[in-house]
Amino acid sequence: MKVTQAEFIISAVSPKQYPDASLPELALAGRSNVGKSSFINKMINRKNLARTSSKPGKTQTLNYYLINKEMYFVDLPGYGYAKVSKTEKEKWGPMMEEYLQTRKPLKAVIQVVDIRHTPTKDDKGMFEYLKHYGIPIIVVATKTDKIPRGKWQKHAKEVRTTLGMEKNDPLVLFSAETGQGKDEAWSVIWQKIKE
Ligand code: GDP
Repeated sequence: MKVTQAEFIISAVSPKQYPDASLPELALAGRSNVGKSSFINKMINRKNLARTSSKPGKTQTLNYYLINKEMYFVDLPGYGYAKVSKTEKEKWGPMMEEYLQTRKPLKAVIQVVDIRHTPTKDDKGMFEYLKHYGIPIIVVATKTDKIPRGKWQKHAKEVRTTLGMEKNDPLVLFSAETGQGKDEAWSVIWQKIKE
């Protein structure tokens, strides 16, 4: 897809701030520092619209990005970061869950994992949560540029088995450095929007 326009809309701290439910939404989930912002930026051809943060776990909000005025990317708070205070956790946990369980325009969650590592307990927990609620999932294994091409398939298989992915669950190998997987990711996103 050719992205000609992308803009940051809002960091929502309450559902009242979500935009009108008139466009499809794709939510982004992943461990803090996994490369979620870099994925968004690469997908929309922007260097720094989604802030690549040096402080993992800092974003406790739902960040809406409007793309070509035809869909939203919704960046969810990064999970698996211990140093979030208990009160903060209590605040954003329910909002994220409410969003995932009830948001009508949500078409799929793009779960970003690091291709170099076996998915963590938190990754698995998120994947199982989404499956449990019947939310379509697109798994993106990012940072392929950090391992030799010859190892991609072995690592991809490890991601699939560890998460417990089914045969038809899409897995996209991606790199925000090289742009690998960008066209495929867009094509899977459109499939989910149309399903
Ligand atoms: P977020 O916390 O999930 O939003 O993670 P970021 O997008 O801020 O990325 C965390 C770090 O990983 C940054 O230093 C990025 O430059 C780096 N990074 C993200 N994606 C890639 C990738 O595909 N390849 C490489 N080599 N580095 C990446």
